[in-house]
Amino acid sequence: MKCTKCGRDAVYHARYEGKFYCHKHFNEMVESKVKQTVRKYGLIKRGDRIAVGVSGGKDSVVLLHILHKLSQKFPFEIIAITIDEGIAGYRPESVEIAKKNAKMLGVEHRIYSFKEYIGFTLDETVNIMGSFEKGERVGACSYCGVWRRWLLNYAAQDVNADKLAVGHNLDDEVQMFLMNIMRGDVARLGRTGPYYEVIHEGLVPRIKPLREVPEKEIVLYAVLNNIEVDFSECPYAVEAFRAEIRDWINEMEEKHPGTKYQILRSYDKMFPLLAKAYAHRDLNRCKICGQPTTGEICKACSFKLQVQEKAKEKGITFRIE
Ligand SMILES: [Zn+2]
Ligand SMILES: [Zn+2]
Repeated sequence: MKCTKCGRDAVYHARYEGKFYCHKHFNEMVESKVKQTVRKYGLIKRGDRIAVGVSGGKDSVVLLHILHKLSQKFPFEIIAITIDEGIAGYRPESVEIAKKNAKMLGVEHRIYSFKEYIGFTLDETVNIMGSFEKGERVGACSYCGVWRRWLLNYAAQDVNADKLAVGHNLDDEVQMFLMNIMRGDVARLGRTGPYYEVIHEGLVPRIKPLREVPEKEIVLYAVLNNIEVDFSECPYAVEAFRAEIRDWINEMEEKHPGTKYQILRSYDKMFPLLAKAYAHRDLNRCKICGQPTTGEICKACSFKLQVQEKAKEKGITFRIE
């Protein structure tokens, strides 16, 4: 097939809009979606310092490349941040890839590890809290998610960033939306959406410039442009429910092209109402770490205390910062 715009050989068929794209026009299309998302919601302002969370995976690396490209034309700065959770056989490789990409683009890069800032790696946490083989595993993903969120916010403040950009793509957004609907957790949908709101001075606003780009297009963008990304998956990730939702949405998209965008549009229309009803506006400072929380002690600190307690119980000693 031929590119709808220029007639050259097409590399991609966007079924949801019935168009074909050559390599050049595919790049332009993906980059312009990011630009439009940023512009539509005013995600980046002149002079902003944007921390980009780069795991080394396809989404965050492509995000880094596209924001870097945009920053050549618009006056804003970027700095890459990588969280090292301490997962043997997975993290070291992806951290390397994040490092290489940042270096290649000439973007400043900092690494923040669980070991240094929380006290234990994720592997150590899993060992302390139970044995996976014995079925005692206590949701590595819960600890990881809470600590990563905490550390990303810490890191973003540490590098004096105005905003934190994360690599959520269209598929992630749609999955997250439907998962929360199916769990009845509508409140969560009011806390993160198409645009950010400053709700606390200690909370760096998160932006998602890739939320209108389908996962497929991110993969193709990386491949076509020879961008090195890590395609391996976290060994702890066993989100069965998310996988079911993902397969189901993909099936619907196959039968009814454009479904993902329609779901996203529905979310975007509901978001202002949800944010008004559910966004936390009265946050305290955690008594231990000082980060914003609804209670007295934040979730990250209470998890940390839990793990320390359990380690003591089991007589496991290790270095704690
Ligand atoms: Zn073309
Ligand atoms: Zn805390």
